[in-house]
Amino acid sequence: MAIETITGQLILKSKRQKPVLNRHPWVFSGAIEHIYGTPKPGDYMQICDNNGRFLATAYYNPNSQIQARILSWDDTTAIDAAFWTQKLQRAFDGRAKLALEPTTNAYRLVNAEADGLPGLIVDKYGDYLVVQCLTLGIARRKDLLVDLLSELVQPVGIVERSDVSVRRKEGLQQTKGLLRGKLPPDDFSIQENGHQFQVDLLAGHKTGFYLDQRDNRNVVTNPTFVADKSVLNLFAYTGGFAVYAAANGARQIVNIDSSIPALETAERNIALNGLQDRCDFQTLNGLKRPTDEYIAADAFEILRYYRDNEQKFDMVILDPPKFVNSKRDLDKAARGYKDLNWLALRLLNPGGILATFSCSGLLSSDLFQKIIFGAVVDAELDVQILAQLGQAPDHPILLSFPESAYLKGLLCRIW
Ligand code: SAH
Repeated sequence: MAIETITGQLILKSKRQKPVLNRHPWVFSGAIEHIYGTPKPGDYMQICDNNGRFLATAYYNPNSQIQARILSWDDTTAIDAAFWTQKLQRAFDGRAKLALEPTTNAYRLVNAEADGLPGLIVDKYGDYLVVQCLTLGIARRKDLLVDLLSELVQPVGIVERSDVSVRRKEGLQQTKGLLRGKLPPDDFSIQENGHQFQVDLLAGHKTGFYLDQRDNRNVVTNPTFVADKSVLNLFAYTGGFAVYAAANGARQIVNIDSSIPALETAERNIALNGLQDRCDFQTLNGLKRPTDEYIAADAFEILRYYRDNEQKFDMVILDPPKFVNSKRDLDKAARGYKDLNWLALRLLNPGGILATFSCSGLLSSDLFQKIIFGAVVDAELDVQILAQLGQAPDHPILLSFPESAYLKGLLCRIW
């Protein structure tokens, strides 16, 4: 690859340089005093303070609210393949130290900004890689990055899952497909903590599987909590929590999701792990299912249905999709979370456990805890928090970039 040079210099407004001085990797349009040179979209540029002093090297996108994303705090005059190799290698080394293999062969290799690689996600699923290019700066260098990933990891195939709506904010279309090598076979599966899961890299949610919940699946389904218990697994997707709960001795697990394909895969995953006798996909905990299909249903409706039929469980797991997409959604989302948790708390047997999550980055863990508290008050219960949960360590949070913290959870027990 030709060495790309720096084509512009971005001067920050004096009152807006603090975040960059604190190593936050984003420069918003409102923080820019002036741009020297004629940088094209995606070009590399220098970020300087108001006195022209060098602060960082970034890539540029004039069509985004986030006009520059910082790649390096060093004064790099030219950026070449060796620069990217070093950054990728550093992220890989961090994963190697997590010692996830051999019982886990699917994990995040590159977590974008939190790994110093803004806009780039790379997930490893066995011998395959899935990449997401979230920004123009990364999309423009996709070929180079795919070459480097092929060389460094030597996967059998590399799949792109850039079918995410945030790309619009960067002026990019959504795209997905095979980039290199071969697609995995139809029955492709991964291992997580020794459990098997079928994953569809092209059609699954996110890059195929909710890898960020790996450690929480272990914590929540500890045999102390689930052995011989009944579990209501809401927002089950392909059965992540269900497989762990069944393997750890749960007596019965009811899986609810609004997606039939997800539940079909969940049922296959249960079978793949030899746990068929413990999972119920066909009835509502003994009550007749409402349709001939799977229980593909709205979690809110199912919770009310159980309440009206006085059904109880020893554990309820709530792992809903993101409710907050912009700050404007916060109030409505807070009401949604409260309703969901209030309904779930009321289905629990005495001493029952609620494992409740939010993957909304814009909702802080403090606010989440307050919402759960509100639900507890309305349910007139005493509740203990047994564990405060977050995203697995292959999805690290960069302290200077709080936006990288998004997944939060509380493991609660009715006292
Ligand atoms: N717990 C899962 C991940 C859940 S992701 C795991 O460990 O892998 C959120 C899931 O909620 C998705 O599978 C989606 O299909 C489902 N979903 C979204 N809205 C829903 C609703 N209103 N009712 C039930 N399921 C819903």
